[in-house]
Amino acid sequence: MADIIKLLPDHVANQIAAGEVVQRPASVVKELLENAIDAGATTIKLIVKNAGKTLIHIIDDGKGMSNTDARMSFERHATSKIATAEDLFKLNTKGFRGEALASIAAVAHVELKTKPDGNDVGTLIEIEGSTIINQEVCATPKGTSIAVKNLFFNIPARRNFLKSNNVESRHIIDEFQRVALAHPGIAMSMYHNEGELFHLPSGNLKQRIVNIFGGKTNEKLVPVQEETEIVTVDGFVIKPEFSKKTRGEQFFFVNDRFIKNAYLNHAVSAAFDGLLPDRARASYFLYLKVDPKTIDINIHPTKTEIKFDDEHSLYAILRSTVKHSLGQFNIAPVLDFDR
Ligand code: ADP
Ligand code: MG
Repeated sequence: MADIIKLLPDHVANQIAAGEVVQRPASVVKELLENAIDAGATTIKLIVKNAGKTLIHIIDDGKGMSNTDARMSFERHATSKIATAEDLFKLNTKGFRGEALASIAAVAHVELKTKPDGNDVGTLIEIEGSTIINQEVCATPKGTSIAVKNLFFNIPARRNFLKSNNVESRHIIDEFQRVALAHPGIAMSMYHNEGELFHLPSGNLKQRIVNIFGGKTNEKLVPVQEETEIVTVDGFVIKPEFSKKTRGEQFFFVNDRFIKNAYLNHAVSAAFDGLLPDRARASYFLYLKVDPKTIDINIHPTKTEIKFDDEHSLYAILRSTVKHSLGQFNIAPVLDFDR
């Protein structure tokens, strides 16, 4: 029998990978914001048109890329962030898979402009569906600008599957807020269809929370702080009387990365036991720092789920820490549920 197995061409492999990495415009926003953070940006601007379906443009003042790196950045499994398998256990960057730009370029029109510090001119690359259609030198400020246009232009089924502009822009705002909350020291702004949605100057965590969620949030915050051998916990919970019945603000960050974790969410809820009005849910901004060796971030391409070596201890620490903070602020059980 003749041999029938062939390696897939790159653009096909990229498009398949894109199915996992790029689910919707918000996934592109997340990947590009994280790249800007990893590049050491101090200012990041996000411009979105038509809920990201027409344009997602991110401009950073980070370290930029050389001419060759700019081209390499679109190759699959091409990364400057890790070099060996051991590096996976001491990650201090958001990215490491080297898949995002290759995936995004497989399913959109991408225009990259980038210039490292000290260079007179930068590089412009235009790439459409994994094919580079133009590369030239260009004048551009230090840093990187990536414009992603016409997402899923070559996958009509995916494009049609996108939700309404309201839903898609909500997802984008969620991603923007998660990154903004993880990095209060970085100035960030977001524009949607010419209107400015967020203008967040560099500041501390409290200022960032207030800048995102409004001035009244300030009085609702209860600080949380604990340091143990396996974890450092920092951040704020919202006083129980201000909790909401709908999904409130529930944010966990592990080593500056937003994560979802039902088990840890349960630990916080348990700390609020007896304090919350009927059916209300605890709201929180909690930052855990753990040794990178004790977590596995590599279980899902979007990296919002991570695996902890010792989830049970984390649960216990989190519950008692939050309980203690609430107690210190003399928060008594709520008796009147109908406020
Ligand atoms: P990863 O982030 O996992 O390394 P990406 O596909 O997102 O993979 O990016 C590939 C590489 O391109 C990065 O490792 C980095 O070297 C470079 N890069 C991407 N975005 C930027 C940026 N905004 N500024 C500087 N370099 C960037
Ligand atoms: Mg990346």
